[in-house]
Amino acid sequence: MSLSRSTTPHVAVLGGGIVGLSIAWSLAARGCRVDVVDVGRHARQGGRDSASWASAGLLAANVNDEPVDDAMRRMCLRSRDAWPAFAQHLEATSGVPVELRREGTLVAALSPAEVTRLEQAYARHDALGTPQSWLTRDDVARCEPALAHSALAARYLPDDHQVDPRAVLVALRDAIRMRGGVIRTLQADSVLLDRERPCMRGDGWYLEADYLVLSGGAWTQELAGVPEAWRPPVRPVKGQMLAVEMADGGSLLQHVVFTSRGYLVPRASGRVLVGATSEECGFTPGVTAGGMASLLDAARGIVPAIGGARVVETWFGFRPATADGLPIIGWRDERVLTATGHFRNGILLAPATAEAIAEAILEGDLPDWVRPFTPERFDSALLAAR
Ligand SMILES: Cc1cc2nc3c(=O)[nH]c(=O)nc-3n(C[C@H](O)[C@H](O)[C@H](O)COP(=O)(O)OP(=O)(O)OC[C@H]3O[C@@H](n4cnc5c(N)ncnc54)[C@H](O)[C@@H]3O)c2cc1C
Repeated sequence: MSLSRSTTPHVAVLGGGIVGLSIAWSLAARGCRVDVVDVGRHARQGGRDSASWASAGLLAANVNDEPVDDAMRRMCLRSRDAWPAFAQHLEATSGVPVELRREGTLVAALSPAEVTRLEQAYARHDALGTPQSWLTRDDVARCEPALAHSALAARYLPDDHQVDPRAVLVALRDAIRMRGGVIRTLQADSVLLDRERPCMRGDGWYLEADYLVLSGGAWTQELAGVPEAWRPPVRPVKGQMLAVEMADGGSLLQHVVFTSRGYLVPRASGRVLVGATSEECGFTPGVTAGGMASLLDAARGIVPAIGGARVVETWFGFRPATADGLPIIGWRDERVLTATGHFRNGILLAPATAEAIAEAILEGDLPDWVRPFTPERFDSALLAAR
């Protein structure tokens, strides 16, 4: 970038999900002035449930059976490996425990056909150098007795951890404030980009800054004032989840369990989260009977004892999805950056995304490893020329 650059610029961040907050915290920790604008939960009819709040918090870099884009895999690993230091720094600054649990993840096969697929995934990950172990049916039963009647084999991933995303959001908000940042509960209706300093505005307010970061999750492309050619092509993919608790308060599982039917996430509180549906229904709010039935059916198929557990919470959120399944991270012009489209991996990818955007603003350029995700790949002119 050719512009003169202040070492402590003022940055306005649209969106207070994990992506916007992580970026804001990273910048505030490096001495920048930051303002985060977020409409807040349930502020609108129909709710605006951030994906981050709804998330399961899996830092699942290696659970895929199918090959993943190379650059994406590298970014997932980079971000996953950054999580322990990120969580430690966040807890030390905010005083809020974020429950990073390091028991690892089991990817379990529930049928003979799935065992064959799991063997293929194991071989592929072995070739990639992924730390993993193969668990036979007996190994699984010893490691997780609750899976004794369902899992025929499993891949154990010792480095794929989990975190409590709701605690992370609280910690990030506190940490930003402690570094002098401001979080404003406001709805931004539009942005003004045709001036020296970009500006966000809403009903009766406006906020201008040296830089503007657009990180409004699945809603990022709704903003007026963003040129049509650069609207991030993000769509909502709804996810429903629920949580269960055993009547005796006991814990059903020690590890995250990932299967073709869904996943189970044991929390320190004894709750087990059951996730998640994946629905192309726009911003249709609410949990549905069908969604809950499919989650409970899957959960009981994996751990039959869940049939006797109490359902203690149900919820939903909207994942920000892109056409190629990859995030959109990078400059839009000399003063505006986009960070959205993290789809199923926004919790996992938050530390790396924050690192990339902070480096872009403070050092003038994006790091090389994030270049495959820049927004130009969707520009309408480029797409039309293809
Ligand atoms: C059910 C479910 C389970 C998931 N599980 C996992 C998981 O285990 N691991 C993982 O890595 N990822 C998971 N994800 C995906 C992950 O949650 C998302 O990728 C991530 O949270 C996206 O973060 P974000 O900050 O971009 O968006 P969001 O968290 O949606 O935040 C965007 C924020 O911007 C605000 N906003 C938008 N527009 C405006 C406006 N105009 N004015 C003011 N505020 C605005 C919204 O209110 C919202 O608070 C899951 C998602 C769902 C739904």
